[in-house]
Amino acid sequence: MGTVYLVGAGPGAADLLTLRAARALAEADVVFHDALVPAEILELSAGKKVPVGKRSGRFATAQHFINKRLLDAAREHRVVVRLKGGDPMIFGRAHEEISYLLRHGVRVEVVPGVTAALAASAELGISLTRRGAARTVAFVTPRVGQGEAPSSWVRTVVAADTAAIYMGAGESVGIAAALIEAGLDAGTPVAVVENASLRNGKKKFGVLADLPALTDGFEGPTLILLGEVFSEAAAAALQATTRTARAR
Ligand code: SAH
Repeated sequence: MGTVYLVGAGPGAADLLTLRAARALAEADVVFHDALVPAEILELSAGKKVPVGKRSGRFATAQHFINKRLLDAAREHRVVVRLKGGDPMIFGRAHEEISYLLRHGVRVEVVPGVTAALAASAELGISLTRRGAARTVAFVTPRVGQGEAPSSWVRTVVAADTAAIYMGAGESVGIAAALIEAGLDAGTPVAVVENASLRNGKKKFGVLADLPALTDGFEGPTLILLGEVFSEAAAAALQATTRTARAR
């Protein structure tokens, strides 16, 4: 029986991969990868590549089918890599794969990757924590699967000093409404980052009330960040908009 490595591919830039991830890829007989993993990273492996794409909405391989394929591959190969965007342990359904494989007697090793929130923080040059002002950071997603219990994401975002909202850009109207309804100030500073770490990365700053406009046109993987740590950047963005409006 082989080993399945759950490997974090990071946010996109190939040079953000860990050395351990690169080694696992180099040794892999077969690589099962998410749709968003860039070609440059896949090229680090000479093994067989199997896309098990999970782009929300579009083509998706059912989780139980992925589990089964990983098990079959582990029966046949020494090194199997399951390559996931960002860090495998954050919103990556790692638990389902790990528990299934362990149940079937397969050895599993996890190799961490840079998660989107930290890549976005780096891209913005803004720390998610700030001494004396931001001491809690929440990673949340409003996404709830069919038949799952309701999520506490709204409560958590309201309570946290800084929040990173994954898989939310397509629902920004509902997100802004839900947070304001729950008592978050409409003027809460917001940053929106698309394709963090990649050359085509984009970022915008503003306030919660403007979230739908801020995410407009962001179609790649996009993270929404909220909190006072973004207040200077949001104020500067607001000033720039007023200046442009006056110049017209
Ligand atoms: N395991 C991944 C998250 C998977 S959920 C991680 O740790 O990053 C997918 C969501 O992650 C996307 O909807 C988006 O919100 C976010 N995301 C992934 N890559 C991103 C990137 N390069 N820039 C901005 N957001 C990203």
